[in-house]
Amino acid sequence: MPRLFTEAKKRLREAASHMSVDPDVMEKLKYPKETLSASLLVRMDDGSRRCFKAWRCRYDDTRGPTKGGIRFHTNVRLEEIMTLAFWMTFKCAVANLPFGGAKGGVAVNASKLSKSELERLSRAYVKAFHSFIGPDRDIPAPDMYTNSMVMGWMEDEYSAIVDHPSPAVITGKPLELGGSEGRTDATGRGGYLVIRHLEKDFEIEPDKTSIIIQGFGNAGYNFACLMHADGYKIVGISDSRLAIYDTEGMDPHSVHNYKMKNGTLSGAPSNGTLKEMTNQELLIEACDILIPAALENQITADNASKIQARIVCELANGPVTPAADKILCENGTIVIPDILANSGGVIVSYFEWVQNKAGYYWSLAEVHSKLKERIEPEARTIWKISLEKNVDMRTAAYIHALERLSKAVTAHGTKAYFSS
Ligand code: GLU
Repeated sequence: MPRLFTEAKKRLREAASHMSVDPDVMEKLKYPKETLSASLLVRMDDGSRRCFKAWRCRYDDTRGPTKGGIRFHTNVRLEEIMTLAFWMTFKCAVANLPFGGAKGGVAVNASKLSKSELERLSRAYVKAFHSFIGPDRDIPAPDMYTNSMVMGWMEDEYSAIVDHPSPAVITGKPLELGGSEGRTDATGRGGYLVIRHLEKDFEIEPDKTSIIIQGFGNAGYNFACLMHADGYKIVGISDSRLAIYDTEGMDPHSVHNYKMKNGTLSGAPSNGTLKEMTNQELLIEACDILIPAALENQITADNASKIQARIVCELANGPVTPAADKILCENGTIVIPDILANSGGVIVSYFEWVQNKAGYYWSLAEVHSKLKERIEPEARTIWKISLEKNVDMRTAAYIHALERLSKAVTAHGTKAYFSS
């Protein structure tokens, strides 16, 4: 497998080849601005102490304080965090947020920790990174296997260190602790709004369209519920252990309730005959829209030619490799790229930060309409660029983001300015 970061930068070079970009811009975006590593020594419930590796990377802050989640996952490593921070830089530019990109993570299997151990780990993260983050410097948020509870502990720890309440240091907090209405389902809702907005352009109709969702976490689940409510048929769902598929469809609420009760998708309720399979098998099953909502590198050169979906919508970060992109594009599959498809999360994070700074809170209806107002025009612009320049939607999204980043970088002057 080629290296993640090298692969990610290919997308930038591809976009740059379709436009004129000052070399200063490419130079500035070549490497992360700063990265901090730490070892978190945490007291376990049995009295022993364990050490966890942790990172935070601020990739670029040209357009504002850096923004991005913190993930707790066994496979977290520095290169992955750097790449995710790179993607956040472009995601924030696509959504026109006044933020740069960042990411953080801890190499840990959070499901093996008790609740108290998880709290101590979350607080240890902030102790180690408190001078790196800050409401005007770098603002974390939830990501894989972190949630509003974790954000609340982190905010509390930061506020204790700086000795005053500081809700704007982190987003995705519980509502009662300065969180925003509408943040929980924002990632799934963003993907839903993009698809519904471009439905006619994609030539799809809700009651004639089937969907497979790989990954039934926050993003996948909320997306499934919104699409299901509008008449789309959910034919496949998976979690990290098992995939289920039924051409007759299933109700994502019932599947979710079943999983909560039984701890597995096996035997979940569906409308017809349920087939059980692996995650990899599910990706290549028949459907119209495929939603990778789990990990990076799921659709690769090895399985891309077997994908049957006509549309792939990336709710996960980086689920399709550049080699797979090429194959999908040749086969006429539309890929809605992560930096647009899952940008709803960071958009509502931005709303949360604005509300925290202003001390003035919005209703759920306001959040929903502001999210729609912000994401739809960006989706439309990216679609237009892809038609005009005859490029895939990912390249179009990178072109769109790079335009904004270029304007910001060159506003400080370039070689042409200083030598004239
Ligand atoms: N972790 C989410 C993402 O990858 C949200 C980031 C944020 O809200 O800052 O987009």
